[in-house]
Amino acid sequence: MKKMNFLFIVGLLAVLVSCSSDDFENPSAEKNNETEATSLSLTTSTGSKVMMQAFYWDVPAGGTWWNTVSSKVQDWSNAGIDAIWLPPVSKAQNGPFSMGYDPFDYFDFGEYNQMGSTETRFGSRQELESLIQNAHQENLAVIADIVINHNSGGDLESNTYTGTDTYTDFNPDSGMFYRSATDFHPNDTHSNDSGVFGGYPDLCHDKSYVQDWLWEQSNSVAKYYKNTLGIDGWRFDYVKGYEPWVVNAWVNEVGGFAVGEYWDANVNLLENWTNNAKASAFDFACYYRMKDAFDGNDLTRLQDDMLWKRNPMRAVTFVSNHDTNEIYNGKMLAYAYILTHEGYPCIFYQDYETWLDKNKLNNLIWIHNNKAGGSITILHADQDEYVAKRNGSPGLVVYLNNSNNWQERWVQTNWNNTQIKDYTGNSTWEPYTQANGWVKLQAPPNSYSIWSTK
Ligand code: ZN
Ligand code: ZN
Ligand code: ZN
Ligand code: CA
Repeated sequence: MKKMNFLFIVGLLAVLVSCSSDDFENPSAEKNNETEATSLSLTTSTGSKVMMQAFYWDVPAGGTWWNTVSSKVQDWSNAGIDAIWLPPVSKAQNGPFSMGYDPFDYFDFGEYNQMGSTETRFGSRQELESLIQNAHQENLAVIADIVINHNSGGDLESNTYTGTDTYTDFNPDSGMFYRSATDFHPNDTHSNDSGVFGGYPDLCHDKSYVQDWLWEQSNSVAKYYKNTLGIDGWRFDYVKGYEPWVVNAWVNEVGGFAVGEYWDANVNLLENWTNNAKASAFDFACYYRMKDAFDGNDLTRLQDDMLWKRNPMRAVTFVSNHDTNEIYNGKMLAYAYILTHEGYPCIFYQDYETWLDKNKLNNLIWIHNNKAGGSITILHADQDEYVAKRNGSPGLVVYLNNSNNWQERWVQTNWNNTQIKDYTGNSTWEPYTQANGWVKLQAPPNSYSIWSTK
């Protein structure tokens, strides 16, 4: 969801108070295979390569977005992307103008004339299905954005739980998942859950009727999206608004890669949520510390705690998204960071398609998919230099330089008497490591080099 400004401030305060002990011991093996055995054919590998967030806030309206994404999936797959994250696919209150985060009819994918249009902002049901089919042909998993904290667009009804009239009477044209006051907070079960979003009617997931429609019964949202639409994985919106068992129950029912938007820089909270939901979370701790490091010109902040350092299998790392884009200086350095480190990196559509150098991003994706294995050891960090190695085979050494000059540094690699080179092409050096692994590396101004065996 679009957050209000005070949430940014809360997040920044959380950064300030949550710099706990550094922990670089990550005895993790290779890259994530997040999805334990599921019945979803494509998702067995989701998490091993790179995710694409296939939208941004206010993509062009008019029902063309599914076709736009569809025209890109082949290139993305060739570049090494393994999953695309779509905006919410069903009809929302603001119909043709909505980005989908005000859900009204979970089963109208652009085929019922309600809320001001037949198509969604992104297109028709047929265009959505064709996009999913094209993505699958390119071996891309399709991740749906699931907004189940709140609903929007219900009719006014008298509400016995509030003693007032509330917009909680939902009569979707799909004929699926009628809702009324008892399905929202407050009701006869309880008055609230862990959070509300704005003034939107807040769904009660403790109601068996709501559970049936969201994930339990054969035509629930989860099962319909999976079995009829072909959705492979889940991105849960605003998970602070309800308890983590909801995500766990959903994934237990239908499987698939799952990641939650728990918008908080506090690593303890993020780790707790992932443990309880048994799902991944976006690594907002990493995001805010990269902001300090690259925009704040202090690369020592990269030594701070992050979700991927706690549990790389449960961290989706990102540099920007549809809600937040605050890393301006050194954005390519930030991408070089997440694409060489542990966690499942997610690339933002506008960064890839519009704002940054696509060839440089493709080079980083290739390095991620081919060289970035094993745990991380930080070799050096100061204000404007950061060097770290991946301990897999062959592994790599990444050298970030946030200064305006070339930098050089002796570091100890895991390679002995081995010729190495910079796979970004930024340095032309092709040095031999010494018998004990030491070698002198360089990195260009405001850029990076990434070394591995030649
Ligand atoms: Zn959001
Ligand atoms: Zn409830
Ligand atoms: Zn069940
Ligand atoms: Ca809630």
